[in-house]
This record gives sequence, C-alpha cells and structure tokens, in this order.
Amino acid sequence: MSIEIATGIMVFIVGMIFGSFYNVVGYRLPNEMSIAFPSSHCPNCNHKLKFYELIPVFSYVFLLGKCKSCKKRISFLYPFFEIITGLLFLLSYMVFGINIKFFISITFISILIIISISDIRYYIIPDEVLIVGSLLIIIELIINSLISDINLISGVLIPILNGLGAFAILYLFKVFGDVVFQKESLGGGDIKLMFLIGLTLGFDMSIVTIFIASFIALPLSVVSLIKNDNNILPFGPYLSIAAVVIFLTNLNLNMILQFFIK
Ligand SMILES: [Zn+2]
Repeated sequence: MSIEIATGIMVFIVGMIFGSFYNVVGYRLPNEMSIAFPSSHCPNCNHKLKFYELIPVFSYVFLLGKCKSCKKRISFLYPFFEIITGLLFLLSYMVFGINIKFFISITFISILIIISISDIRYYIIPDEVLIVGSLLIIIELIINSLISDINLISGVLIPILNGLGAFAILYLFKVFGDVVFQKESLGGGDIKLMFLIGLTLGFDMSIVTIFIASFIALPLSVVSLIKNDNNILPFGPYLSIAAVVIFLTNLNLNMILQFFIK
C-alpha cells in the first residue's frame, strides 16, 4: 500500500473520531452541559455507553441504530456527521496534503460541522465555537504567513478585515430582510458566522457563499412557507455547505466570471 493511501485512511478514521466528538459538542454546548462529564450516555434512559458502543459509525450499525438498553432509536445524524467529518478530512488531505493549509482546512470544517449540528438541533450557533474557531484560524494564518514569508498585513490583517466586511454585509441583509418580511429574518448566529467565513474565504467569496447558501435554502423555505409550519429554517448549515464547497474546490471570482462570460 502506498504511503498516500495509508495516510488517507488514517486521516479518514481520525476524522470520524473527531466527528463523533463534534456530535457531543454540538449536542451539549447549547444545553449548557459540560463536554467532558458525564461520559456519553443515552439521552432517553441514561444508559452509560461502553467503549464498543462509542466506535464511530460501526457502533451505530452494530446496534442497528437503537440504544442497547431501552431500544430507543438513535438519531441517524450521529453516524451521518461522523462520516461527513471523515470524508471532509480526507478531501482536505487530497487537496492540500499534510501542511498548514490542511490544518486550516480541518479547523474550518470542524467549526462548520459543530455549528451545523447545533443549528439543526436547537437553531443555535454557539458563540464559544465561533470565538475559539476564529482564534485558531487567526493563529494558523499567522503561522502560514511566517512559513510562507507573506507579510502579516496581507496574510493576517486583510483576512480579519475581510471577516468584518462579510459580517457587515450579512448584517445589512438582516436589517433589509427584517423590514421586508416584518419579522426576524436572520439569526445573530448566522451573521457572526460570516466573520469566520470572510476570514477564511476572503470578502468576495463570502458574498458568493451567501448567494449559494440562499440558492440551496430557497426551495426548502418555499416548502416550509406552503406547509405554513412557521418553522424558522436554520441557515447555518447552508452557509456551511456553500463555504466548504468553495474552500475545497478553491473556487474564486475569476472562475465564476469566466464561466458566465464564455
Ligand atoms: Zn437508552
């Protein structure tokens, strides 16, 4: 087996283990629960999970998606996010190799996965995750600038300003949307999330992120409007999907313009 394939498999497995942890963080943090204690248990019957019930994906399949003790169904979101994290870590390795870009990529992906989990479950994007995540990315941008001999203004300061710009743009969208729809159109979490996206993708691509996310979310919000279930649609996961696709494909404004001019 070549070293690349072996590394790829390792990265995928490590990604699934991280994904399993992100499930816990995304589930517990908005509930003000400690991430470390108590150890993982069934939310229905409090059955404490043994080590063989904690193996990403395999445990879910092995337990046939049910709690071993009370037989209550375990949400498919658990194995789903474990696999997604594994795959996105693997893709990061295939795109960047193992270097500082890879670490920026898995940090960015990890934050987006945690906030998507908590946005889907509770309509909350926890501030703690955004703050810690943005700080980690800034540290990685500093390291990247030092390694690649980029000056700190273009390597770190400009990305921070891009983040602030992206934040400001979605804030304006919200003010506009609140007037048009006569109700809360966007959550504060979505707006704060734009700082992280602008920081990592740049200002122009953060705008593209908003457009792609709206494009994916639109059919679903129409369905929800017709069904009149008055549910707010979590926008965080759509912003996350759009941002990850842009980041991993290295999509930039030139490519988009060329596509439309051709
Ligand atoms: Zn149970």
